[in-house]
Amino acid sequence: MSQQQQSGGSRIYLSSPHMSGKEQAYIDEAFRSNWIAPLGPHINAFEQELASYVGSRGATAVSSGTAAIHLALQLLGVGEGDQVICPSFTFIATANPIVYLGAKPLFVDSEPDTWNMSPVALERALRHASAAGRLPKAVIVVHLYGGMANMERIMEICDRYGVPVVEDAAESLGSTYRGRQSGTLGHFGIYSFNGNKIITTSGGGMLVSDHTDALERAKFLATQARDAAVHYQHSVMGYNYRMSNVLAGIGRAQLEVLDQRVQARREVYRRYEEALGKYEAIAFMPEPEGTCGNRWLTALTIKHPGAEAIIAGLLDALGEANIEARPLWKPLHLQPLFRGTTFYGHYEQGSSVCEELFRTGICLPSGSNMSPEEQDRVIAVIEDATRGLRSASTEAAS
Ligand SMILES: *Cc1c(COP(=O)(O)O)cnc(C)c1O
Repeated sequence: MSQQQQSGGSRIYLSSPHMSGKEQAYIDEAFRSNWIAPLGPHINAFEQELASYVGSRGATAVSSGTAAIHLALQLLGVGEGDQVICPSFTFIATANPIVYLGAKPLFVDSEPDTWNMSPVALERALRHASAAGRLPKAVIVVHLYGGMANMERIMEICDRYGVPVVEDAAESLGSTYRGRQSGTLGHFGIYSFNGNKIITTSGGGMLVSDHTDALERAKFLATQARDAAVHYQHSVMGYNYRMSNVLAGIGRAQLEVLDQRVQARREVYRRYEEALGKYEAIAFMPEPEGTCGNRWLTALTIKHPGAEAIIAGLLDALGEANIEARPLWKPLHLQPLFRGTTFYGHYEQGSSVCEELFRTGICLPSGSNMSPEEQDRVIAVIEDATRGLRSASTEAAS
């Protein structure tokens, strides 16, 4: 994105860190007790507090969400030559750990109702795999932009085939599905505290599960797999994946305000919906019944034959007004890295749901620290850039 001076006021970011003010006190405590060494009391406390917030038996704090996915897959026995089912419509970090382990992703399309993993495509993928006598070792489900996937059907299908589920809840901390927190419905859940997520430690992640033995094993693997001996002894390969005590302190302060952050992001969404939802050509990411998303990013699609050009124009107009916006995630089966990888569409024929979302969608600035005045600036640019579209659709309707 251009760094040059742009018109329209100070820059509005997609999602910027939002401190509560209490972080410094936790950091100071770490300094006072000289617990700058990576492991320390903030880590245990952060793990317990997060586990209790989401309602899981335990949690293991790690250096990133990606590391948490890597550990979850390893704990499920994913290795060389195995297959792992993964949505195509997601950020690359969901799939990279599959490759770290020498396994292969099988990509599955989205469904129109949730934009997340299509149970129809998932079932077809598992049926094929089962017929070939080669079931995947795991299924990774993502709750994109904080919107919940269709967990009831996905869990039912995976249980039927006996394949464990990892929930990539990196974007959905605080979202609920029938009252249960995202990340606690599968066998493992992971969260990310990267700088752009709903709460942040500047960088970090968490693995949660009810399988406390597996979490112990995760801690072991994340600290260089050091055997219980005074001398340094290692029987298996490990990683340096633990979160530092200082960052865990920031996480504790952030977790205290998570509910407020969810509320603020939902309010940002509500204001967009109120201003733009009345236009026929604009469709927001749906929130299915029984779910409450954190609306990490407000995402919408343009319903119009010329949607691609309209999105391009919208991105340009927002960029010129010094506002950061992004297309929706580019499907992984379209990424050069994954050329030739198997992809199961929601529809057996024709275009895929996730390609359509990518072509016609956009994410809007959604930070919990964005002011209503800033949001009005975003809305005004969108209204202006889609004016032609609205008169065209009005004409078409009359
Ligand atoms: C951010 C993100 C991750 C990775 O988290 P990091 O902490 O940045 O490693 C994984 N999956 C999704 C869907 C994400 O948005």
